[in-house]
Amino acid sequence: MAFDYDLFVIGGGSGGVRAARVAAGEAGAKVALAEEDRYGGTCVQRGCVPKKLMVFASGYSEMARDAQAYGWTMMAGGFDWPAFRGKLEAELDRLEGVYRNILKNNGVETFDARARVVDAHTVELSTGERKTAKHILLAMGGWPVRPDFPGAELAITSNEIFHLEELPKRILIVGGGYIACEFACILNGLGVETTQFYRGAQILRGFDDEARGLVSEEMIQNGIDLHLGTNVLEMKKVDDGIWVKATNGTEHVFDQVMFATGRAPNTSDMGLEEVGVKLGRGGAVEVDEYSQTAVPSIYAIGDVTNRVNLTPVAIREGMAFVETVFKGNPTPVDHDLIPSAIFTQPEMGTIGLSEEAAREREEIEVYCTSFKPMQQSFAGRTDRVLMKLVVSKESRKVLGCHIVAPQAGEMIQLAGIAVKMGATKEDFDRTVAVHPTMSEELVTMRSPVRSA
Ligand code: NDP
Repeated sequence: MAFDYDLFVIGGGSGGVRAARVAAGEAGAKVALAEEDRYGGTCVQRGCVPKKLMVFASGYSEMARDAQAYGWTMMAGGFDWPAFRGKLEAELDRLEGVYRNILKNNGVETFDARARVVDAHTVELSTGERKTAKHILLAMGGWPVRPDFPGAELAITSNEIFHLEELPKRILIVGGGYIACEFACILNGLGVETTQFYRGAQILRGFDDEARGLVSEEMIQNGIDLHLGTNVLEMKKVDDGIWVKATNGTEHVFDQVMFATGRAPNTSDMGLEEVGVKLGRGGAVEVDEYSQTAVPSIYAIGDVTNRVNLTPVAIREGMAFVETVFKGNPTPVDHDLIPSAIFTQPEMGTIGLSEEAAREREEIEVYCTSFKPMQQSFAGRTDRVLMKLVVSKESRKVLGCHIVAPQAGEMIQLAGIAVKMGATKEDFDRTVAVHPTMSEELVTMRSPVRSA
């Protein structure tokens, strides 16, 4: 049977665009892609990229104070949100153009439309057209989840935060994951009075206890009003903002409330279950190690599969899909030992097992140091950083590396290579320190602080 295309990709985010471009440009496949919103997807339009630019913007308030401590005469000034937002929106427009061009230059036909799956080889576009393809790739990503309680519709999510008309004076952020903590730090740094509610006992559940404990301490120290064991019960619009009643009985008024309460795969009303694609918990597309769904001609990559929801992972899954399907080289994706960073202030960089998870698996030694870094300490700040290695007693391999420090994201990328290669504690020790740096502590920790 002749199909219109070899591959039809649904979703123009990081994973979908990479798969389409490589399948067309390198494997010579005839490829089409449909995107209902903006090209670039969550990472470029509503996530990593605008977030990181806001992290940079918010960091300057502290830098300006530090510069004074280093002897610079600084003019006092405020943050001009409309000026920044204008530049940010122009940058996102530019990036959308880059993504469109990548597809065009590789010969991928694009449709600015929503696509639904009709059968194992057919999609229907919101324009009414139907297209057939030998393979369909689902790369629709995810979407913020909103809790359900009276007044919940008054809150925004991370989708809207980049486009606010004006910066709120007072904001409540609900949640304790990556997005909640990153935005609490960003807004606090921009001068917004920031309150954060997290329902659990400590933010950043699942990360190393000591590392997340320090991030939480530093966030409070920097002025974030963090309430643990607290959630929202009810919200109401009032004259001067949004009235919020909390589970601990307190009542507050904020100008904005932002939910950062998790994300769910974009799989509703896509026709997937009707054609035999299996959906798991929370609507995630179930796939095997080659990203193949229960329907052999349909594959899925990225957040829509809810495996590890990070852009570089979606890109790898896209590349592995092309290797497997279009280059005759079956390639599973390695989801083990993925380094990542949380862009809080200070940042957290992490790879491998937390101390708590490692302890469940085998006997370990923990090497850890926490100190005031030179640059901030000289400026009179009390900030502390943390460098931690979790080491297997038996194999001596570094099972986990956790860093809380300015630029921890940059550091963990490099430490991650060693950990991924299976480096032992002694390999770290054989490496000469780069002095004076913060990360030199990773190679100079002589004795374990504890064994377990
Ligand atoms: P997370 O799953 O990380 O966090 C969701 C948070 O919301 C948790 O603290 C959760 O609490 C809380 N929560 C869930 N439901 C409710 C509710 N009904 N009421 C109150 N609180 C609730 O999701 P995020 O949205 O922060 O991020 C989504 C994903 O995006 C991440 O998992 C990550 O993969 C990716 N991401 C990565 C970044 C990076 O690499 N720097 C940055 C941003 C996102 P509890 O812990 O109790 O479940």
